[in-house]
Amino acid sequence: MVIVMKANAPNEVIERIEKKMTDLGCQVHRSEGANYCLLGLVGDTSRFTESQILANEFVDRVIRVQQPFKLAGRMFHPEDTIIKIGNVEVGQNTPCVIAGPCSVENEEQLLTIAKAVKSSGATMLRGGAFKPRTSPYSFQGLGEEGLKLLQKAKEETGLPIVTEVMDTDTFDLVESYADVLQIGARNMQNFPLLKRAGRSKKPIILKRGLSATIEEFLMSAEYIMSEGNSQVILCERGIRTFETHTRNTLDLSAVPAIKELSHLPIIVDPSHACGKWALVEPLAKAAIAVGAHGLMIEVHHEPEQALSDGSQSLKPKRFDHMMKAINEISKVVN
Ligand code: PEP
Ligand code: MN
Repeated sequence: MVIVMKANAPNEVIERIEKKMTDLGCQVHRSEGANYCLLGLVGDTSRFTESQILANEFVDRVIRVQQPFKLAGRMFHPEDTIIKIGNVEVGQNTPCVIAGPCSVENEEQLLTIAKAVKSSGATMLRGGAFKPRTSPYSFQGLGEEGLKLLQKAKEETGLPIVTEVMDTDTFDLVESYADVLQIGARNMQNFPLLKRAGRSKKPIILKRGLSATIEEFLMSAEYIMSEGNSQVILCERGIRTFETHTRNTLDLSAVPAIKELSHLPIIVDPSHACGKWALVEPLAKAAIAVGAHGLMIEVHHEPEQALSDGSQSLKPKRFDHMMKAINEISKVVN
């Protein structure tokens, strides 16, 4: 960290700051020119609060040298993290594809979709039993009954199951059924939920918040990791912009950017990013082309009847087409 003092900073103020920093265990290197004074701090700067330093009227700027996400960042963990879920490895060159309906609706629906996505080569099954809906009057999910149906679909297909956990109250219940727990975009900064996820032994898919910067996204992963769970899969699912043609704007630049900053696997959900089934395959192909470790895709055999997100769900035949296309792209990229 470097503290840039204002040109008129009195020497006693600079000395006071230097003392405060050395008392906190840092080495301070002062560098003075005709019009500036810089204080270079070496050591663990995590214990002081940047805003306290900035509150000093003679401090011009604070420049961070290291990223604040120590566990999620590449600096102290340069090699890629690979997360194993049964026979599936997330973080490898072979893309992992998590597919299934937005919501678990009934047994026939879930089993039909699960078998279809499995035969097209999906690696995990998704389906929401607790749904974060914008309107309280929309379908909220089947709750535990939905989790039981996911378990049945897993028994029939062998696909590990991914399902969303919305709060700390239902965490133990969802955790007891899921192979991978999803924390949705709306909960990306639900810190008590992130901390609970950090105490879980199960891998977590953390979706990027609707208006979260890449740094905020990685700091949320840091919350989970700081409680002891290092199995975090990041998921770019589109962010809010001025554009209303698509549901969100898929930020594909986040994929190579996150791969530079973090060792954690990063997957892409084009379904929630665009909200339109016709755009899902092109965006899925683009995601694999920019190096995503996998995809999350909503699939429904009768999207016109779907209780949620029918407009962005691929029919099984289109999903099959997409799988063939992304496998070709993956061969070229890797
Ligand atoms: C979902 O995956 O079902 C979902 C609600 O996604 P998001 O949190 O990205 O909106
Ligand atoms: Mn959905």
